[in-house]
Amino acid sequence: MNKIVLKLGGTIMALFLVVLLPLGYVANQIFTNFYYNQVQEEISDLSQKYALTLPSLNNDMSVQMFQTLAELTNKEIYIVDAEGKVVTDSGLQLTNLSREDIQLLSEGQSVQKTFHNAEANNNYLGSGHPIVQSDGFQGAFFVLAPINDIQEPVEKIRDLLILSAVGALFLALGFTFLLSKTISGPLLEIEQATRDIAKGNLDIRVDIPSNDEIGSLGKAINDLAIEINRYRSNRSEFFANVSHELRTPITYMKGYAQVLKQNLYQTEEERLHYLTIIESETERMVGLINDLFDLSKMEEGKFDLHMTTLHLTDVLESAFFKVKMEFEQKGILLNSYFEENVPAIEADGDRLEQIFINLLGNAARYTERGAVNVQVWHEDNQVNVVIEDTGIGIPEEELSFVFDRFHRVEKSRSRELGGTGLGLAIVKHLVDLQNGSISVSSQVGKGTRFQLSFPQAE
Ligand code: ADP
Repeated sequence: MNKIVLKLGGTIMALFLVVLLPLGYVANQIFTNFYYNQVQEEISDLSQKYALTLPSLNNDMSVQMFQTLAELTNKEIYIVDAEGKVVTDSGLQLTNLSREDIQLLSEGQSVQKTFHNAEANNNYLGSGHPIVQSDGFQGAFFVLAPINDIQEPVEKIRDLLILSAVGALFLALGFTFLLSKTISGPLLEIEQATRDIAKGNLDIRVDIPSNDEIGSLGKAINDLAIEINRYRSNRSEFFANVSHELRTPITYMKGYAQVLKQNLYQTEEERLHYLTIIESETERMVGLINDLFDLSKMEEGKFDLHMTTLHLTDVLESAFFKVKMEFEQKGILLNSYFEENVPAIEADGDRLEQIFINLLGNAARYTERGAVNVQVWHEDNQVNVVIEDTGIGIPEEELSFVFDRFHRVEKSRSRELGGTGLGLAIVKHLVDLQNGSISVSSQVGKGTRFQLSFPQAE
């Protein structure tokens, strides 16, 4: 059973009852009192007037006239003498007045009371005033109104109230049903879609056109599905890449190890050559595994940095020293143009050096001749570094992908030159982790330029 319908319906019904019941009761009371008061006032007025105008109790003509008058307004008259004996009661045979009533009347006070007609089993509301003449208290004149007459309009109003309450209740029921349909329908759709997504059906989309909270929940579920999909394809691509990257060196190592085992070489030189290949492939694998380990920790956000205040130029000098050999071997110049008194930055010295070694290593790797220029300057509280080479360059359409893991512009060349395709991905993570930014621009055949910026230390 749809729970929202029940909850919402129950709440609305309860609210309705809480508001309607007391309201109905109060309205009923007000109307009843209003009618009673009105009738009471009317009969009290009449009885006073009649009591004043009645010439004598024994004047049958007058009594007859009052009788007719009363009948015209649907009232009854009831006249008693000074002892309380009935002079006329319109033939209603009403209950007699009590001693106290007569006492009150004889003292000049008016009396309001209910009379009962046993024969018709009918009640009357009566108001009596004393008849006083020159020789004193003569009796009392009562004007009576049948209570049924008062109750009738009150009952009509009560029926009307009940009817409108029932109508309102049905209206509320219909409204609740509609409301719960518009809420629970889309929620059920979202639930189903989420279950499908959990089962791995990531192409499913929730289609809720509304702009309210439920609509945005639907959109959030769709975004989640897209994100999981992206993550899944990213992950399988990653595993495919890793296994490929590992398989290649292992194939080489296995092949050359077999050659050596079966003595399939002619000279000692050849044997050394094969051993060197096995060694360099092993090194590549170690490098790859270390890079993978670092990258996975960075992607999980579990990579610890030891930030200190340092001078970026010192770190660059140390990186230059470590890559010097590569540059010398290829005959490429490494020029530095450092602005004087560059402010310090907050960074992890080892990780900053790793960034520079990587970028300088790439510059050397993808440059055949010419020079690699490194510039450092500061501007707007930022310390900037540019590493620019005169190498093969990167095509325009590849530029935005070079920081993706395993992305290589020329797969064979990168492998040949000892690259893993993870270097720039790690560089990007390390720069981000140290609050810096990195950008690349390049021209094929002319060279590549990496620019890094770090905020200067406070
Ligand atoms: P790799 O280990 O293959 O060098 P990187 O992540 O360091 O991987 O670089 C990704 C790709 O970007 C490289 O394969 C190469 O094609 C290109 N690249 C990086 N640096 C340079 C550069 N200085 N000049 C030309 N191409 C570069």
